[in-house]
Formats: sequence, structure tokens, C-alpha cells
Amino acid sequence: MILYGVKQGKYYNIENFKHDLSDMEEKGFAKKIYINVTNKCNCACTFCLRSTKEMNENNSLWLKKDNTAQMIIGKFKEYDWKNLEEIIFCGFGEPTMCMDTVLEVADYLKNTHKEIPLRLNTNGSANRENHRDVAKELQGRIDTVSISLNASNAQKYYEITRSKYKEQAYEDMLDFAKECESYVPNVVLTIVDCIGEEEIAACKKVCADRNLTLRIRPFET
Ligand code: SF4
Repeated sequence: MILYGVKQGKYYNIENFKHDLSDMEEKGFAKKIYINVTNKCNCACTFCLRSTKEMNENNSLWLKKDNTAQMIIGKFKEYDWKNLEEIIFCGFGEPTMCMDTVLEVADYLKNTHKEIPLRLNTNGSANRENHRDVAKELQGRIDTVSISLNASNAQKYYEITRSKYKEQAYEDMLDFAKECESYVPNVVLTIVDCIGEEEIAACKKVCADRNLTLRIRPFET
């Protein structure tokens, strides 16, 4: 699957919708389309669908090969998507593992309908993973960067994410968030609401200390 809509935690191929996507709302979907870029990731989060039984090769979001920019752009060209409220780089994997694909697709989307907001959902590892200053490259392309904070300190973060970059990944992620604020209109860190009051309070402090925005989102199974 290349492009999909989401309803109540379930994923629907864009091919289930009409050409002009006018039936999305009738079918109970937000007018948002998600881009499935890659299944690769430099983390192995304990909760990730990539590593649980819910994510197997029969799942249509599972990719044998990454979706290329040409494949993603080609799929958009099959639809009239001018009325979408938002387009999100997401998928079962970390989109910034394929940063050049994200940038090329973002350029196409912005050049076609610049008024539609683009969001990047990420683990915040892009600068380290790509060995370059990716935050700067998001300017004029991405409107919102949503970064999973996951935890209130590096040790807890590593226990949850099992990042390839070990505990260093935590500071990398916070630095990336801070840097993105210089280039992207909206930068938000997220945690889920089921991690306990003490940990939520500690995450709030991490963000407050760095003047970063935190969003607490409902946990979806
Ligand atoms: S960062 Fe995202 S894609 Fe990667 S393992 Fe964690 S939840 Fe899964």
C-alpha cells in the first residue's frame, strides 16, 4: 500500500475511495491521507506493529521494497486530492530513513497544492541517520513535525525504543525537535496517555525546560 486513510486505528488503501476522495467523510474518515514510505527503522520499539503479530507480511502496509518517490507521486496523480485537510508522512517505519524520498514527494505536493499542510511523523533521528542537517531541509516543505518523545529520560527511552543509536538517541531527538523550530511552523512532541501520571509529569518538564510543545495523545491498540 502506498497511500491510505485511517479510521479508528484501521488502515484503508486510497484505492477504496472515489477518484475525487469525496466519499472519505461519508465513510467516516478524516480528509487526511497518509504516505507509506518505508518499513525500515533504526528503532525497534516494544509496542511497534512492525514487531508484533499485528504486523506481518499479509498486512498490506508491509512493503517488500521501499516505495519510491516516483511510485508515491504516481499514486497521487491518480486522484484529485485538492480538498485534503492534511497529508502525513507516516507508515510502518521511519520515513526519514528515506529522507530523499520524503523531500522529493514534499516538493511535488507543495508545488501542486501548496495550501495543503504536510506533516512528518518521526522518531527524530533524521540528522544522525542521514549524517546531515535534515531539519534545515524541511523548511518550506513540511508544516508540522510530530516527534515521538516516548519517555522522560534517555535510559527509559532506550528501553522502549531500542534505538540503534542507544541512549544518545534521546538527546538527538530533543536537539532535532529544537532545531526544527527554526524551520518548521509547528513542532510537537508526543506521548501516549497510558504511561502513568508520574512519567507524564516528567515528560511535561522535559518539554517545558526546553520550551517545546508536548501533546498527550490517546493510546490506540
Ligand atoms: S520509531 Fe516508529 S516505526 Fe520505528 S520501531 Fe518505533 S514505532 Fe516502529
